[in-house]
Amino acid sequence: MRLVLIGPPGAGKGTQAAILRNDLGIPHISTGDLFREHVSRRTPLGQDAQRYLDTGELVPDHVTGGMVRQRLAEPDAQRGFLLDGFPRTVRQAGELGAMLPDPDGGIDAVLEFTAPEDVVVGRLLSRGRADDTEQVIRHRQQIYRSQTAPLLAHYAARLLTIHAVGSAEQISERVLTALRERGLARAWPAL
Ligand code: AMP
Repeated sequence: MRLVLIGPPGAGKGTQAAILRNDLGIPHISTGDLFREHVSRRTPLGQDAQRYLDTGELVPDHVTGGMVRQRLAEPDAQRGFLLDGFPRTVRQAGELGAMLPDPDGGIDAVLEFTAPEDVVVGRLLSRGRADDTEQVIRHRQQIYRSQTAPLLAHYAARLLTIHAVGSAEQISERVLTALRERGLARAWPAL
């Protein structure tokens, strides 16, 4: 199963992907995690990406797209994936389609996580990652609204909107219910 997770920074995509990968048996691929790994290993890609991560800007498409293409070519991603943080623009959605064997039917569902802005900002401030200063958080929220939210219309036919306030378990149960209703996941617990 190929799933894309979309939501503002702080909506809990990473937390949900970490839970769902066990339930669904597919890898969690987070572009933010991949970039942070490159930064900490001081690879050339990490050195290119660092200033974008620090300021909350999007890393340029040619860097991001190549990294994702390479990750999706690995053996564990052949049976599906939970893609967290990519695509983040309509243009990246086009690139993703071109990476999959069947561009129109390649993605089974797009999970949109929704939560009020004060809730997501509060979560990020308490998380305390290097790019979780108030100014950078505000900038990332603004980029989400202007660049990433338009993707929701692009994926309208495959969109499953999940209310992302509550415990991590409550939210993952909502995801599994929504997938089951679409016929994408079998009955709990035999997923
Ligand atoms: P995240 O962990 O998803 O919050 O991403 C952290 C940072 O990584 C973002 O603020 C961007 O600088 C960068 N990033 C992650 N995914 C992408 C992407 N798809 N396109 C461009 N930049 C990205």
